Amino acid sequence: MTRPSRFDILFEPVRIGPVTARNRFFQVPHCNGMGRAFPSPMAAMRGVKAEGGWGVVSTEQCDVHHSGNHQRELRLWDERDIPYLARATGLIHEHGALAAVELVHNGSHVANLESRTVPIAPSLRLTRGINPVTARAMDKSDIRDARRWYRTAAVNARRAGFDIIYVYAGHGMTLPVHFLSRRHNHRTDEYGGSLENRARFLRELVEDAKEAVGDTCAVAIRFGVDGLADSRDGSKDEGRDVVEMLAELPDLWDVNLSDFDDDGVTARFGDEGHQEKYVRFVKSVTTKPVVGVGRFTSPDTMVSMVRGGTLDLIGAARPSIADPFLPRKIEEGRFDDIRECVGCNICVAGDRSGVPMRCTQNPTMGEEWRRGWHPEYIPPKDTDDTVLVVGGGPAGLEAARALGQRGYDVMLADRGRQLGGRVARECRLPGLGTWARVSEWRLGQLRRMRNVQLLPDNDITAEMVLQAEASLVAVATGATWRADGIGRYHSEAIPGLEGVPVYTPDDVMDSRLPSGRVVLFDDDHYYMGGVIAERLVEQGCEVTFVTPESLVSAYTQLTAEQRKVQRRILRTCAAVHTSTTLARTEPGTAHLACVFTGRETAVAADAVVLTTGMVPRDELYQELARRGEAELGAAGIRRVVRLGDCLGPGIIAAAVHSGHLFARTLDTALTDRAPYRRENVEPGWDLPLPPGGEGLWAPGDVLS
Ligand code: ADP
Ligand code: SF4
Repeated sequence: MTRPSRFDILFEPVRIGPVTARNRFFQVPHCNGMGRAFPSPMAAMRGVKAEGGWGVVSTEQCDVHHSGNHQRELRLWDERDIPYLARATGLIHEHGALAAVELVHNGSHVANLESRTVPIAPSLRLTRGINPVTARAMDKSDIRDARRWYRTAAVNARRAGFDIIYVYAGHGMTLPVHFLSRRHNHRTDEYGGSLENRARFLRELVEDAKEAVGDTCAVAIRFGVDGLADSRDGSKDEGRDVVEMLAELPDLWDVNLSDFDDDGVTARFGDEGHQEKYVRFVKSVTTKPVVGVGRFTSPDTMVSMVRGGTLDLIGAARPSIADPFLPRKIEEGRFDDIRECVGCNICVAGDRSGVPMRCTQNPTMGEEWRRGWHPEYIPPKDTDDTVLVVGGGPAGLEAARALGQRGYDVMLADRGRQLGGRVARECRLPGLGTWARVSEWRLGQLRRMRNVQLLPDNDITAEMVLQAEASLVAVATGATWRADGIGRYHSEAIPGLEGVPVYTPDDVMDSRLPSGRVVLFDDDHYYMGGVIAERLVEQGCEVTFVTPESLVSAYTQLTAEQRKVQRRILRTCAAVHTSTTLARTEPGTAHLACVFTGRETAVAADAVVLTTGMVPRDELYQELARRGEAELGAAGIRRVVRLGDCLGPGIIAAAVHSGHLFARTLDTALTDRAPYRRENVEPGWDLPLPPGGEGLWAPGDVLS
């Protein structure tokens, strides 16, 4: 296949200081939960992006010093950290991409819980978050030290093989931004006061890096253009002034929105290209190349960003996670093969949970090294099985797709007329339209496979399974929202539910809607409670939102959208009760109880909606299990497994992963040994101790 010539512009090389990117596809820095704790998975994941055609592949943030460290992220404190970073740059270079590293000191953004060093900041300031830790004000020698740490890290980064050295001044979380910010910087010396003074530290860091490595490495600034308004005096944002002031200083401007919740906005709250209006000015004030992001997955949008003069390089974090091979697919004109990011931020949630990230669309993300999974290639079939997959939701679709890719003969049956399972239903809820991409992409792939039969409109029974002439059966029949209120808070059904009309998300998605005054009890805490509330408000219901958590949709803190969700729910619902449970109901009334004191409040309720948990829809599996091995064997069936929500109800990403795992292994049984490679830490037992260290005490050394 060839691409139309209008996309050629995306494949033009771009000069960035002393280095040249082979094309305009730029994987900007993004966290991934791997960092220094999982260095081999991190390196392999970056290498796969380079293989997928990205012209530049960046690391996540990389600490320059232990006084500003983020526990999980990369570090380049000294030369001992070079080898594992070199593993990443080696793989990136192997595939012809440039390697970029995002150097950072997190200042008062971190509490230094690992190193126990008192954090530093331009001025005395409590650290961000809830840790009872205060950052001390830096004196001149601290500033000199910090400059030296950055400089040393830049030199070590070059030794590790990096081509682009970032000075990270974005997302409000780094020392250079804290110096820039009037909220953080109250200094009265030449590093405080005027913008020129506040920008001095950033300017010096860039100048230092250029002097140290600028002959061979490009030096980039990553900057949030909207983060410098001062809420205390309402004065204007100085973002543009900073770019104008330092316009020609870096070799590259990587510009975005300062608050990560806006920069990495979910599809529920922002569309592709949503940052354009904020960053458009940058190219008009600098001659240096500009990269920016916007969850770009449409090649036409990418072209318009370049032709329209907004960006020189198409930045991507999430689109490169959902499809590491996005550039290659555009290059080869394989547009239908692009696996578009759905904008759910489950990848962010993985990182924020401190585990290697996962992706709703790309089940191989994070598994490249530990399981040897490649996003595009999969070993051909190695058995003669014919596989029946029952259920065409994310689990069944992905199982059938990957099995089909391996060359297996597959039948995919679903009782619904439309394949897609939960995503086909959930995508009609407010803000979840992009969820449809999960099924659309898989169906697009499946329809091209001659060895896969799609059988919608087939309600499969055990008898039908026995007659299907399949040797493997995967039951991916999903899960049902429960109507008894059992969840995290209640382990027994909520008393009195028989006296009021009770609805679940399944009812609402099937257009069985309550009316009047509705109490929505959310004990699930991800998106479902919030979007169902929105749908009910749209339908004219007066919704009282009740959750035992102290925040609305608490899990969405991990997907970087909780504040937006809570704002929306507070604005649209009639009342919001947090730290509150639905204790019992009676006709016309819901009795709420404070989770701390048990104090009850009665609210009028014409109906109750429960988003408290799901139960597997596993009747078919249980019936097949009852039939026993002999009967199954007589029908030629050697194994029956459950996949996705039918095995363990959860998020869509888990269902997709479950389907993919089955397609690779043909089994879902728990193994005695972990089914993936583990990384053991580098031996450090014999390293010399720092001054003040005594080593381990021998028995008898302790004074009595
Ligand atoms: P998952 O997230 O695990 O993929 P879903 O709930 O999205 O699960 O999809 C399950 C699909 O299985 C639904 O489309 C449902 O209609 C279908 N299904 C459930 N039971 C049967 C059955 N007995 N025969 C055919 N399809 C079924
Ligand atoms: Fe996109 Fe969701 Fe995958 Fe993140 S997890 S890359 S937001 S599809």
